[in-house]
Amino acid sequence: MKILFLSSEVVPFAKTGGLADVAGALPVALEHLGHEVRIILPKYKEVKQESDTALIGKNIKVHLIINDAHYHREGIYVNENGEDHIDNLERFTYYCKESLELVKREGFKPDIIHCNDWQTGLVPVYLKTIYKDDKFFKDTKTVFTIHNLAYTGSFNHDEWEKTGLDKSLLSIDGLEYYGRFSLLKGGLVFSDVITAVSPTYAKEIQTKEYGCGMEGILKNRSRSLYGVLNGIDYGLWDPLTDKALYKNYSCENIEDKYINKEMLLKELNLKTGIDAPLIGTVGRLAEQKGYDILAQIVSKLCDMNVGFVLLGTGEKRYQEIFKKVAKKHPDNTSVNLTFDAVLAQRIYAASDIFLMPSRYEPCGLGQLISFKYSTVPVARKTGGLADTVFEYNSQTEEGNGFLFTDCVPEHLLDATIRAISVYNDKQKWLRLIQKIAQYDFSWDESAREYSKLYDKVTRC
Ligand code: ADP
Repeated sequence: MKILFLSSEVVPFAKTGGLADVAGALPVALEHLGHEVRIILPKYKEVKQESDTALIGKNIKVHLIINDAHYHREGIYVNENGEDHIDNLERFTYYCKESLELVKREGFKPDIIHCNDWQTGLVPVYLKTIYKDDKFFKDTKTVFTIHNLAYTGSFNHDEWEKTGLDKSLLSIDGLEYYGRFSLLKGGLVFSDVITAVSPTYAKEIQTKEYGCGMEGILKNRSRSLYGVLNGIDYGLWDPLTDKALYKNYSCENIEDKYINKEMLLKELNLKTGIDAPLIGTVGRLAEQKGYDILAQIVSKLCDMNVGFVLLGTGEKRYQEIFKKVAKKHPDNTSVNLTFDAVLAQRIYAASDIFLMPSRYEPCGLGQLISFKYSTVPVARKTGGLADTVFEYNSQTEEGNGFLFTDCVPEHLLDATIRAISVYNDKQKWLRLIQKIAQYDFSWDESAREYSKLYDKVTRC
């Protein structure tokens, strides 16, 4: 099958979060299954390729859309102050239109256009309106994947004309969204199939609590809505081959994990010893990630002689909170407010425990990466975390992490203390971290599920 994969970020070209990991790995797994895949990505300033195409996998052509006025600037979505670029509507409208025109010029007639998140939301709309009678796309079906429903890509009504769509679509059955219009809603209403990145999230988003005002549409479309769990790319995320590590290891020579711990403690100037638990977290500093409740327990953890390392970029208010934490506990904490792929990999490897106190988490990759690096997750039971992390039982030794339900500091602290108490039982901990390293969350299974969905929708 010919598949056009559209994503506004793709590893190794441009990344702000998990979407890029998915877009760099799923197409390769689909290619393994025999599909012919192409990717289109805007050529942002941070994309280092000289030409307007690149290759990933065996033979996946990545087309880079060049438009310097739109894309050659700092920040993919936001400026230095964390504010949305004011012309994001033009930037991603152009991306959607140009992607359709580009495949026409190339003569690449897709059976499936796989769209991801709001930046691609206009593609299913265009196909069913402006391109409705275009023979080139006669047999093309669309799959729209929700990686994060909360980013709705919404704009003021007075910007509507920029979409090039008829005014009649600025209605409740179209893209109208609580006094604005939403490109993500366009994707949800007009795509042939909708997927969310974990089975639990696919259910959660049909409720008021998690639905971001889209729950009605999602409930209406529930027969076309599927949850497919993300995988991770073990070509990149494997402590045995990861070049960023001080020393490679696997569950067979797990003692070398502690060389990574020792070296990272030194690199970050942490004074907690090798025997004290090291707790790590890597993620966007956003309301979603629950870092505010985490900040409230750090002092208590430090009193328990725990080491704490954070890597994250994002909202100023969280940066300020964690700067204060670091100042108060210089010996126990290391706060790194940058985007740093190498440090991220070292944190996954060196930490004993990985924290994900997310308010909501569509899938979450941090816990899957942690498993592979023999690092035990402490997570809130939501979305993809609820599908992959299960409470450890000290008696039966079943389970793989520590969970809490209410997004409050006390419950996060409880779960973390439960993790630390198992950490202190060296034999049990060893068995636990050897077990989780052997899980298989590679893309093969998920790619097969997507492939089945593609088959199903092209037969309709
Ligand atoms: P989300 O997509 O919501 O940001 P995920 O858990 O799905 O969250 O994916 C986050 C990805 O981004 C992981 O690969 C994580 O390691 C990476 N990441 C997040 N913040 C940083 C950072 N500051 N530096 C390096 N990598 C980061």
